[in-house]
Amino acid sequence: MKWGRRFPSDLMQVGLIRRVVRFHPFQFLLILPVLVVVVLASISMLLGVWHPGFNFGLVLTWVVWWGLLIALFVVVGRGWCLMCPFGAFVDWLQRLSLWRKRTWSLGFNFMYPRRLRNLWLGIGFFVVFIFLDAGYGISNSPALTGGLIVALILWGLWVALLYDRRTFCRYQCPLTVFIGMSSMFAPFEIRRKDAEICQQCQTKNCFKGDEHFYGCPMFEFPGGGMDTNRDCILCTECIKACPYENITMRLRGWGHDLWARKRGLLDESIAGVILAALVTVVSLFLVLFLPKLYLLVNPLLPAGTPPNDWPRLVSIGIIYLGGIAVALLLMYGFSHLSRIFGGDKSITTRFFFTHFGYAVIPLGIMKFLSDILDHIFRTWGAVVDVTRALVQDFPLNRLMLEEVTVKQLMSAEQTYFLQTIMVGIGFGASLYIAYKLAGRAFLDKVTAFKVFLPMGAFIFILTMTALWALSAAL
Ligand code: SF4
Ligand code: SF4
Ligand code: SF4
Repeated sequence: MKWGRRFPSDLMQVGLIRRVVRFHPFQFLLILPVLVVVVLASISMLLGVWHPGFNFGLVLTWVVWWGLLIALFVVVGRGWCLMCPFGAFVDWLQRLSLWRKRTWSLGFNFMYPRRLRNLWLGIGFFVVFIFLDAGYGISNSPALTGGLIVALILWGLWVALLYDRRTFCRYQCPLTVFIGMSSMFAPFEIRRKDAEICQQCQTKNCFKGDEHFYGCPMFEFPGGGMDTNRDCILCTECIKACPYENITMRLRGWGHDLWARKRGLLDESIAGVILAALVTVVSLFLVLFLPKLYLLVNPLLPAGTPPNDWPRLVSIGIIYLGGIAVALLLMYGFSHLSRIFGGDKSITTRFFFTHFGYAVIPLGIMKFLSDILDHIFRTWGAVVDVTRALVQDFPLNRLMLEEVTVKQLMSAEQTYFLQTIMVGIGFGASLYIAYKLAGRAFLDKVTAFKVFLPMGAFIFILTMTALWALSAAL
């Protein structure tokens, strides 16, 4: 029997899957246990031991959750958003219902301003989010992590009261650009089956909803030919709402959205380059330049105790901006080279920049994963201990430090070896995407290969900076 027959790529052909995703409270039942864990983690951060390695909430947030979030990109895309309680609060507040359809809703339901319907704000929020960890050490502070969670909830609820559907999740959540762009790599998609049925369809329930189900909370219109995972939070509402059962969940090749989109967008392309830059060029610059820059800035600004040490914060800020600028300039330079190699002067450098920015995303995802891997291997013993401590001393989690088993699952050299392999996989995947993108832009294979070469060189440079940053941190 063929593999395809035993396990169809159209997952809605599997009876159990079909029944589960059509079950009305499906998403709520996934969110509920996560919400319980988030509440426990928050209590632990508020009342538990304040040591970063031994606080249940902190270890769970920055080892388990962060690792899970990134690992899901490689499997199902925005899998975290499907079970995220912060996004669910938006729905629950607006609908005043956990899953059942109501005919009225709470809030003003304003449309988000058209000029803000892009990724620029989201990119800025994500860079600030990552900077806050490097500069303020959020992942080492129960108070700051707890404060961030509270701020996110209040921010989301405020936006939910003002704007329609999940405006917060689509445009403002500090993670939406990271999750959205990375989910384009996943070998999984929710899409319409037959375009003709959608053209004949009068109801467009997948977008508008009906008396039993809501329309897409992320403003997507799957029946209109949605061609990217970027904003699909996998809620399955459109699958339930479509009266013709014309929406399905499919498996596909890794990275499909990254090269098969109808057209590239500048904000997406820049987002892709910035995601990769944060874990390649910026990581390397932090290792190489932070101590020297700190010495330069220190006499100019009032020093303090970290994290409130202005010279350190400003130095890290400069390195972040500098690293991102270098990566974008490099991308622009290599895009210009692609234009020259392509030999067609009517095509602009901006076209190449916009077209090829998606290619570096796999490298960025694998470097993010390799960074969290190091963290997991160093702290895995703590995950078991802090969970035991929470159970024994609920809800205070007052773990005595000497009770923690500090185990190193792998030596630093073994971890580095594994990280190198992961970055190598990211390198190969990025090269593949760049090659496919070149083939989509130029039917002539020789020209396609020529324009691919500068992009291959750019990906190679980013990969080398990633490996250098990893080895420097050894
Ligand atoms: S976009 Fe942000 S808030 Fe919304 S579901 Fe995803 S992670 Fe949660
Ligand atoms: S997916 Fe279903 S509801 Fe949406 S347009 Fe197509 S047929 Fe209509
Ligand atoms: S496209 Fe469908 S599954 Fe994706 S977010 Fe919209 S309603 Fe949910």
